[in-house]
Amino acid sequence: MPGDLRMPLTAAAGLLGGVAAYTVGTQVMAGTIQVGVIKRGPARPQVALTFDDGPDPEHTPRILEALAAAGVQATFFMIGRHAEAAPRVARTVAAAGHDLGNHTYSHRHLWTLPPWATVAEVDLGAAAVADATGVFPRYFRPPWGMFNWAAYVRAGQLGEERVLWSVRPEGWLGPVTAGEMAARVIRWAHPGAVIDLHDRGGHPTTPRATWTALPGVIAGLRARGFSVVPLRLLLDAAP
Ligand SMILES: [Zn+2]
Repeated sequence: MPGDLRMPLTAAAGLLGGVAAYTVGTQVMAGTIQVGVIKRGPARPQVALTFDDGPDPEHTPRILEALAAAGVQATFFMIGRHAEAAPRVARTVAAAGHDLGNHTYSHRHLWTLPPWATVAEVDLGAAAVADATGVFPRYFRPPWGMFNWAAYVRAGQLGEERVLWSVRPEGWLGPVTAGEMAARVIRWAHPGAVIDLHDRGGHPTTPRATWTALPGVIAGLRARGFSVVPLRLLLDAAP
């Protein structure tokens, strides 16, 4: 190989390696090996419902009603700009005692963002949720569950626990009916399950299917012997 090509090729290989470590490497460590990331709680007869991408002025109140009617507290991973746009809804979620999570400021895929933009997404997301609700979000979940190294580190620096999920009744592309959603959650639930749902985003029909399914989901989980708890109780170290 001509000597004048060797340096640029070495630099390109180094850069590619760095990008791979920043994205895929972090995801394998966080999502697959689960270093510093929670996907499920201890194996007790408890499960947690988590709702991503809200708050939504139309659908979040319906979900809050269904949870209140069943006497259940859950966890809401809010998108910062949605909390800014619907602060009253965000406040209502917090006032009902549900746990709050940071789902970044604008739900960009973190693999497309350099470190400084990632830190801004994490910081602004946390600040927007805290401003709207008066409560600093205790948990962090990246969009689509995909970490990069900067988000992984920054969430830790903010004191936010990194939480993914162990049960996801929605497909990534197609719609899911309320009946399918309920059946999947009840069938796939396991001791310590973290169940990923959406009060906004995803397929357009998903949030409605979610609040329609919710009473049946909760009843079915209880019939299987699970209590439905917020993350702070699911992840509580005490038995
Ligand atoms: Zn999301």
